[in-house]
Amino acid sequence: MSNVAISVHNLYRYFGPLKAVNGVTFEIPHGSVCGFVGANGAGKTTTMRILASLDYPTLGTAEICGFNVVSHPEEVRRLIGWMPDHFGNYEHMTVVEYLDFYARALGYKGKERRTRVQEVMEFTDLVPLAERFSNKLSKGNTQRLGLGRALLQDPQILIMDEPAAGLDPKARVELKSLIRVLANEGKTIFISSHILSELGEMCDSLLFINSGRIVHHGDSESLLMQTDVAGGLLYDVQLAGDPEALSTWCLLHPKVEFMESRKYGGRIRIDSTEVAEAAEILQRMVKDGMKICEFHREERNLEDAFIDMLGKIERGDIAGATPPPMPETKAFNPPSNPSE
Ligand code: ATP
Repeated sequence: MSNVAISVHNLYRYFGPLKAVNGVTFEIPHGSVCGFVGANGAGKTTTMRILASLDYPTLGTAEICGFNVVSHPEEVRRLIGWMPDHFGNYEHMTVVEYLDFYARALGYKGKERRTRVQEVMEFTDLVPLAERFSNKLSKGNTQRLGLGRALLQDPQILIMDEPAAGLDPKARVELKSLIRVLANEGKTIFISSHILSELGEMCDSLLFINSGRIVHHGDSESLLMQTDVAGGLLYDVQLAGDPEALSTWCLLHPKVEFMESRKYGGRIRIDSTEVAEAAEILQRMVKDGMKICEFHREERNLEDAFIDMLGKIERGDIAGATPPPMPETKAFNPPSNPSE
């Protein structure tokens, strides 16, 4: 058996003139966790829906364990657990009835079905909520239910679209630990999220998509290293006086960029890799009357790296800015619309 769980080759999905997925190629090996990162509208959901056999590519191939998602959707659906970013709940259906309904749809029968539903409820910690109406759960518990549904057939591969969106910090930590357990069991997990720091911790690799194009695929360390040199030095600066003074000062100094506002000042980026230059800038700030009470170096994080990368793409400094046109081949003509 090949070691590749998910394989996507030259995948295109156009909606009229809109190039939602624009020549995407990547592979994810069995047993690894891959984070799918991109801004709103970058093409994550579209790619994931194609992988889940819920949409057709305009051109190109997507395979799950060697099965083409277009020609072998039944095999693909048997292998994957799909957790969409939004899923409908039925009124007046309890948690246990909801899972039982999907277990029936998957072909589980009798005792085996009851056992599987119970196992899933235990794993997702839904046993105490078994008799609650599924459409009245908190966001965190709704996500647990969605995960439970995706796990019913014990899939080898989990495709999760923004599972942490809208969760409070506690629910996010709990979801993360469930994902970690699944990863330790050897499942392949393809997960999209905007929360980069969390993805970096739990993913073996990160796949960055921008305007339908893959712009980076590697582990988080390689991403941080790649952008560190060009990214300059980052400092947290706190002032005893008006915090707004810092952003105004940065506007007048081209080598210093104001990155984000913080309660007592902000985070700045110095366009240099020399700490001596940072010391000179600190000196200048003090001379200009800024009441600095703290000035310390910060590590570059994944959000910084991602923003750096988007900046480079906008400036045309790295590949991904100019996508190759879709080949002039006859586009795939789907037999009929796939259903959710
Ligand atoms: P988000 O993080 O906001 O969910 P995303 O990266 O998942 O974004 P997609 O949902 O894949 O992005 O959408 C990519 C682009 O394709 C967007 O511009 C979106 O509006 C468009 N799009 C998606 N589905 C359709 C559709 N069925 N018809 C027309 N346009 C669509």
